[in-house]
Amino acid sequence: MKYLVIGGAGFLGSHLIESLSGDITVVDDLSTAKYFQGNAKLIREKIENFSTDEKYDYVIHLAARPSPEDYINHPVETALSNSVGTYKALEIARRSDAVFLYTSSSEIYGHAEVIPTPESYWGKVNPTGVRSCYDESKRFSEALIMSFYREYGLDVRIQRPFNVYGPRLREDGSYGRVISRFVYQALRGEDLTIFGDGNQTRAFLYVSDWVEATKRMLGPGLKGVILNVGSDKETKIIDLAKTIISMTGSKSGLKFLPPRQDDPPRRAADITKAKEVLGWEPKVSLFEGLKMTIEWFRGVLS
Ligand code: UDP
Repeated sequence: MKYLVIGGAGFLGSHLIESLSGDITVVDDLSTAKYFQGNAKLIREKIENFSTDEKYDYVIHLAARPSPEDYINHPVETALSNSVGTYKALEIARRSDAVFLYTSSSEIYGHAEVIPTPESYWGKVNPTGVRSCYDESKRFSEALIMSFYREYGLDVRIQRPFNVYGPRLREDGSYGRVISRFVYQALRGEDLTIFGDGNQTRAFLYVSDWVEATKRMLGPGLKGVILNVGSDKETKIIDLAKTIISMTGSKSGLKFLPPRQDDPPRRAADITKAKEVLGWEPKVSLFEGLKMTIEWFRGVLS
């Protein structure tokens, strides 16, 4: 089997590729990625600029800059990798007659009014806000993918991951997502930075559960499927911070900062459909996942 994995050197890609066997080509500009896995061939290029005559069985588009603080500083690149980039990837899949899998995002729901959020919810998104480079480009990608499905009959699958975390999630201040940032801060004895009052929620998914769902989504008979890949267990950010301080045995305190602009106040996945369609549900609890993540960070930071 021949795989083209776009953005395959990033956090999600590195875990997925480790668990795939076959002939794997990664296209990645390495702009945010640090963990390229040696069992694949790397082409260092942005998907927007990539062209090839090769044919693939699977085209998987993971390339994105999912950290709000990072994408807000690189809005054009963020918007292009999930618009022009998706178009380029779809054309490669169409020419190859490949299965096309896209990692969209729970961001497409914006400030969701239905929690946990099912796939049928249309979203409540600020089309011109600071997060729009990310959520609107993901929404456009979904629309383009469904257009290729309807017009050309391409075998497409769309997943919407919700706050996936685990080893290799970047920790640095200008980039880190909340779990890697808090673990990093706690292990270094720095105060954990909470945006707003910390009552906003997320539902976190450990990366091995994401890999399992993703591999199942590459299976037969799933043409045109759209699925949430996440957890339905909501956690308040302030509780997450306290849990990480206690699990690391850290002396860190909490530092409250102004809220992020357009930060969704609540987020959790309705995974009824993923359970039915894939026979999948998360196996790793937040506690177990945090334990493995903390252990990995201890190793990296020591
Ligand atoms: N967050 C926080 N402190 C941080 C980083 C994030 O309080 O240092 C909060 C952020 O405001 C958001 C949640 O944690 O409500 C998740 O943020 P993340 O950057 O992981 O991604 P998002 O889910 O917003 O895309």
